[in-house]
Amino acid sequence: MTETLLFTLPLEREMDVAAARQSARHIAEMLGLEPRGQTRMATAVSEVARHAVQHGGGEARLLLLGAPQPAFCAVIRHHAPSPAPPSARPGGPLSGIEAAQRLADLVHQDVLPGGERQIRLTILLPPRAAAPPPEEIIRRLRTEQIADPHRALYEQNIELVRSLDELRQRQEEMVRLNAELEDTNRGVVALHAELDERAEALRRASELKSRFLSNMSHEFRTPLNSILALSRLLLERADGPLTAEQEKQVQLMRRSAENLMEMVDDLLDLAKVEAGKVTLRPAVFSVAEMFGGLRASLRPLQPNAAVELTFDDATGLPPLHADEGKVAQILRNFVSNGLKFTQAGTVRVSAALEGETMVLTVADTGIGIAPEDLERVFDEFSQVESAQVAGGGRARHKGTGLGLPLSRRLAELLGGRITVESRLGEGSVFRLCLPLGLPVQPDLASLAPAGAASVLVIDDDESFRYVFRQWIGELGYPVIEASGGREGLAMARAALPRAIMLDLRMPDFDGFAVLRGLAEMPETRAIPVVIATASVIDAGLQAMLPPGAILLPKESLGRDAIARALRRILPGMEEGAQA
Ligand code: ADP
Repeated sequence: MTETLLFTLPLEREMDVAAARQSARHIAEMLGLEPRGQTRMATAVSEVARHAVQHGGGEARLLLLGAPQPAFCAVIRHHAPSPAPPSARPGGPLSGIEAAQRLADLVHQDVLPGGERQIRLTILLPPRAAAPPPEEIIRRLRTEQIADPHRALYEQNIELVRSLDELRQRQEEMVRLNAELEDTNRGVVALHAELDERAEALRRASELKSRFLSNMSHEFRTPLNSILALSRLLLERADGPLTAEQEKQVQLMRRSAENLMEMVDDLLDLAKVEAGKVTLRPAVFSVAEMFGGLRASLRPLQPNAAVELTFDDATGLPPLHADEGKVAQILRNFVSNGLKFTQAGTVRVSAALEGETMVLTVADTGIGIAPEDLERVFDEFSQVESAQVAGGGRARHKGTGLGLPLSRRLAELLGGRITVESRLGEGSVFRLCLPLGLPVQPDLASLAPAGAASVLVIDDDESFRYVFRQWIGELGYPVIEASGGREGLAMARAALPRAIMLDLRMPDFDGFAVLRGLAEMPETRAIPVVIATASVIDAGLQAMLPPGAILLPKESLGRDAIARALRRILPGMEEGAQA
């Protein structure tokens, strides 16, 4: 790398600092740097030069480096050993060298063998053909007497004024931007308030709709019930004989009333779900048995011999802990839709376990649903065009467009979801995906009636909860669960379970805290607790537990151990609950 010395300056007095600054600026200008670049270079050099003047003086050498990376370099060397510049406090002024470090591309500090400090700052230059050769720069520096300190000070002042002006402009720009931001902010706040208002209005409207639906449905049910009862009386010939024609008419009346009743029931259900008034009745049940019940109740719906309704074998699947009535209601709706919209082929009901999720599927070979309608079928009262046009499926069967929206709400309530896949003309597959165990209800009080006969498992470890759910479920007890101590204590107080399976080591609120909480209230004090723990069970641990607590080491946990422990605390279990 070529290195050409351009200029050497003494650094003895304050005026030399101005001269160094001026020389650096002049060189920068000759090298073709823009005004801002010139100021940067001049300021970096003068800051380091001032440090030398203040610490016993020194000398500045200004150099030009050639290829491969052209650069300007200032080497400032102190005459005598000098202290390192103090580093700036946050928010305080920068020392000269720190300022230079921010301005130059490279700053290198050395302490020479005699203790003198040498600082080398480098500013990289853009490769530029326009710069004059180094000899020319040297010549001009000499002849133009740049070292005139008065002129240097004058130019420095002009530069300062220019910088101040630029600063003022920036500040004005900031003030304007700030005002703009404030305006935007005010707009956003106003928009928020408006959205809040709208959300509140929507919520009120939805509440009114639910209340209206619920009231109307109740009002409809009374006259419908009397039509059904009267038509039954007529068909039973309680008041004398009917002609064949009259019988047909009464049967038609009765069927219409039944259809209407079904619609009213759907409406009432939907209103109840929306108003949050549905109480779940969780229980452990087998999918195979539920299929058996569905098969019997759905057979009469089968419209013609060309459509076959089949149920796959579901034995061997783990039991579900959910509200059986609601699960069956959803599947019944899938199947009755399948039968409605299939003219020939099959409607097939099946179940499979996917991880911790039970997937209940109803697949048909019917008219299918167009892709753009797949989401719309879950909107209330929506019946899609494709179904109305294709195959005449809809022409024969009336519906309300409420079945699927209601099913979706119920599935959500059960902690699950519904998915659909369909192809126009080929058929549809509706799936209900449910967790094996019911999720914890946000409204704990709603668990009370069902929880009263159940076993509460409090464990932060998902896999242990799963194991307990399986084994205790098999013993015939519904299981309710909490994944933490605080939540578990709240559930125990709300649901008053028959027994509690408690883990000791849980974050935040551990088993000991749960035990203390249970002991505080007379209703929960008497609930028997089985402590399932991975800790070493020694005398120390036992001393910390209430007398009579049953300890179950987690490593030897098994179906029999749990059965034995539960049998000790729930004496009636053998007769009543053994599955
Ligand atoms: P309903 O059956 O009372 O009309 P649903 O909410 O159960 O109301 O269904 C909404 C609409 O979704 C139906 O009217 C129909 O257009 C479409 N649909 C539902 N299930 C199927 C299916 N298995 N095959 C084709 N279309 C279906």
